Amino acid sequence: MMQVQFIGCGDALGSGGRCNTCFHVTGERVNFLIDCGASSLPALKRLKIVRNDIDLILITHFHGDHFGGLPFLLLDAQFSRRTRPLLIAGPQGIEKRLTQLREALFENSSTTKPHFDLAVVALTPDETRTFGAVTLTPFPVVHGESGGPHLAYRVEAEGRVVTYSGDTEWTETLIPAARDADLFIAEAYYYDKIVKNHLSLKTLEAHLAEIKPKRLILTHMSEDMLERLDTLAYTAASDGMIVEV
Ligand SMILES: [Zn+2]
Ligand SMILES: [Zn+2]
Repeated sequence: MMQVQFIGCGDALGSGGRCNTCFHVTGERVNFLIDCGASSLPALKRLKIVRNDIDLILITHFHGDHFGGLPFLLLDAQFSRRTRPLLIAGPQGIEKRLTQLREALFENSSTTKPHFDLAVVALTPDETRTFGAVTLTPFPVVHGESGGPHLAYRVEAEGRVVTYSGDTEWTETLIPAARDADLFIAEAYYYDKIVKNHLSLKTLEAHLAEIKPKRLILTHMSEDMLERLDTLAYTAASDGMIVEV
């Protein structure tokens, strides 16, 4: 059994005053984050999450609302004298992108030797990797020509499967990524408007019979979706919400 807490479930524009994407997953043998958007450190502190117990951070892509919180989190780890090793995994190019981001925000932060072991691992789409008690399969998704690669994650741990779509327009890879998952956290940026790079609820809905997730929670919603929350037939995430999986 695992617990998933939505630390942040907003979009890049701060719609609804929601924090950027960051999900905290814990169980008997696992403690990890999926994404670490720019606002994640204050959001984690507000929810009283012990940051230095987190072993692993999975990054879906390099947009600031999913990746931009890492320099702050790493600074916090350094200043709070973290000793536990930390592994950060994400798309190809993550080592360079993380160094560039850290230097842009806090100069010399990437060259200062941390008090803890920090490993940064680039993932290959469709290649399953195991990190401790977490088994992870990244799937390529469609979220723009530049700045990629962009990934969705199917995570197996503690006998459960949790899938996160990442940011993506509809792509067939979401079917194997989320098929029969105990929890599918899916982007639903718009209700029925079709745009490039993002998913609408109506499009997702048309494929749910194929995906058959045991549970679906919507995330990364624009104002268009947030205005309709009361009328939706699906569960929508909110910042701080906890789900047992
Ligand atoms: Zn995003
Ligand atoms: Zn994005």
